[in-house]
Amino acid sequence: MENRISFTEDFQLFLKPVGARCNLRCSYCYYIDNSHLYESAVMSDETLESCVKQLFAASRADTVLFTWHGGEPLMAGMEFFEKAIYFQKKHLPQGKRFVNGIQTNGTLITREWCTFLAAHQFIVGISIDGPEDFHNAMRKTRNQSGSFESTLEGYRLLRASGINPEILCVVNSYNVKQPLVIYHFFKKLGANYITFLPLVEQTDVSGSGDRVSSSSVPALAFGLFLSAIFDEWVKNDIGTLKIQIFEEALRTAFHQEHSLCIFRERCGGVPVLEHTGDFYSCDHYVGHTKPLGNIHEHPLSSLLAHPVQKSFGDTKWNTLPPTCIQCNVRAMCNGECPKNRFITSPDGAPGLNYLCEGYKYFFNHCTPFVKAVSSVWQQTNP
Ligand code: SF4
Ligand code: SF4
Repeated sequence: MENRISFTEDFQLFLKPVGARCNLRCSYCYYIDNSHLYESAVMSDETLESCVKQLFAASRADTVLFTWHGGEPLMAGMEFFEKAIYFQKKHLPQGKRFVNGIQTNGTLITREWCTFLAAHQFIVGISIDGPEDFHNAMRKTRNQSGSFESTLEGYRLLRASGINPEILCVVNSYNVKQPLVIYHFFKKLGANYITFLPLVEQTDVSGSGDRVSSSSVPALAFGLFLSAIFDEWVKNDIGTLKIQIFEEALRTAFHQEHSLCIFRERCGGVPVLEHTGDFYSCDHYVGHTKPLGNIHEHPLSSLLAHPVQKSFGDTKWNTLPPTCIQCNVRAMCNGECPKNRFITSPDGAPGLNYLCEGYKYFFNHCTPFVKAVSSVWQQTNP
């Protein structure tokens, strides 16, 4: 079975108009470590126009997605995004359409931003880690006070303008203890799409001390967290609220490819473009490796198809430890992100995912439901 991501047909380019710059100082943010690489500047008009043209040229999809990330992408200013839309309309190939998505911390959202984002039908993602004390534990301003109030104000403004943002919740050692408190808080906010992102900060690469920071989510606790929310979701919220990891598990019921890179067999589908035009294989590589190239020197399409990019993608599958190959939930998990593969398997093989225990617990927990869905689907689609 060929599951490799076809780079020219199936990729999502993360565009970073201000690099790692952000108005907040969340304690777990790995971007801040890279801020020295790409200080102060905003993506130039020349790079922006070239990026828009090249993304249209490289994409075979009818709908071309522009995914704006940071740091905090709203720091680029509204004028930047007005120009982006101008270039998108100017260079839109016949028969295609474009969609913009933006991931924000919500604190810079104003009524003017809401009017703009709604008028141009942006898909908006907002980072909230739960109720006030959970959110403020790690999502801090520059003077180390909590950012909850301004984030929630941004969320409310978005809702008032008709945008229902997707919620991105980082699950850490603190909020993982209260799955239903977190879940009911988001439900009360009226969320219709939630992503739970596990926090894993590797601290000791030698393996002799603690492997992860004290903020990192313990593996099994993450599995228990997801399972508690899953049970609640199955009882009350199927069809009204989408949870990204549940959707990913359910994709296996329909033999669909995962939409999230961490659960695919191969990497390579989510490269990053820095505001300078530098291209990286993945966000986790910014600051750790040199860029693969720059779109002012090499066309985006050639960077996407570059042998190094392809080999980066294949390495994920080629380095899967035997424990994963034999695992009963391998199709749901695929060893997750290689960034987190730094523990030793029970058989002594290196390269097992730190979160394995949690994923194994959760994916087995949801398997009877996934199997039931699969069996109904097979009966209705013989
Ligand atoms: S390294 Fe991780 S985040 Fe990057 S493409 Fe691979 S699975 Fe995705
Ligand atoms: S649950 Fe563990 S053993 Fe199974 S595929 Fe995931 S990381 Fe590998």
